[in-house]
Amino acid sequence: MKTKIVALTVLTALCMSLCSCGKVEKSTQTALLLDTIVSVTCYGEGSDEAANAAIDEIKRIEAIFSPYIETSEIYNINHNAHSAPVKSSAEVMSVLKEALRICALTDGAFDITIKPLVDLWNIKAENPSVPSPDAIAEAKSKVDWTKVELSDGTVRLGAEGMMLDLGGAAKGYAADCAVKVIRDHGIKDAILDLGGNVYAMGSSEKGTPWRIGLQDPGGQRGEYFKAEELSDLSCVTSGSYERYFESGGRIYHHIINPKTGYCADEGLISVSVIGKSSFEADMLSTAIFVMGAEKFEKIKDNFDIVKYITVDKTNNWKEY
Ligand code: ADP
Ligand code: MG
Repeated sequence: MKTKIVALTVLTALCMSLCSCGKVEKSTQTALLLDTIVSVTCYGEGSDEAANAAIDEIKRIEAIFSPYIETSEIYNINHNAHSAPVKSSAEVMSVLKEALRICALTDGAFDITIKPLVDLWNIKAENPSVPSPDAIAEAKSKVDWTKVELSDGTVRLGAEGMMLDLGGAAKGYAADCAVKVIRDHGIKDAILDLGGNVYAMGSSEKGTPWRIGLQDPGGQRGEYFKAEELSDLSCVTSGSYERYFESGGRIYHHIINPKTGYCADEGLISVSVIGKSSFEADMLSTAIFVMGAEKFEKIKDNFDIVKYITVDKTNNWKEY
């Protein structure tokens, strides 16, 4: 079986070429965090401290929300919140509350209890394979966001084996938090890329909005089918062409339809969402991938997004 896992970054900021004056202070910091390549570039006085502080903030968020770090709050919830409620920080409570709002509004297309299915499919393994229907049914029975109980600063998971996975939300949340940290440092212009979660703050070196390229799913990395001009906005892409394997002539990717237990298959290969909140845009890019654009159109007024762009299997894009 051929396994192919293509690199993580969907979007790359089409950073404008440096202006010849070169006087604006600028600092770029990169790190491997949240299972992806994170890059932060800040402009102006104090840009170095701001970019470093932003990276530290993303590290802080990974340490709380990663289900793989044994000291994280999410790990603790996943291992101890079935028999009794687990005391949680105000930050975890508020992130889970907002994530559950998206689960409810998308009728479970986005589901933060997806982990049993993510673990079963184990797409990141050396040689992933298609699980048996019985195994899928068994894992699917543990996925149900309605059984997550938040009350009085505690979290309880209402079914045996249920586990949280914020893989479709954490990068967006981290981007928003990093943006706050950068603003607190007095920086207005910056560009952040957390493996496809881009946040464009202020303006580019030319003084114009940032131009962000949307990766052509069928093209080489860095080939764009469209560019978006963004200022103080985030653009988040979910694609099936990033992490997948092939088996029996079919492609199996990392976005799962909680209702079937199999990979989402609404005819889309890429969904980009643009909005003020990278957290919301991140969850919605995953949700739209699962539910399809037609269904999402009916509920989109519930969200604070500017627009979204889909690419279908024939590589045609559409803007909504
Ligand atoms: P990426 O992480 O590549 O940017 P997404 O933002 O779409 O892509 O998130 C996909 C991740 O979200 C998966 O790796 C998994 O951890 C989680 N996930 C997969 N399917 C769902 C789903 N239906 N609802 C919520 N999270 C999901
Ligand atoms: Mg997402």
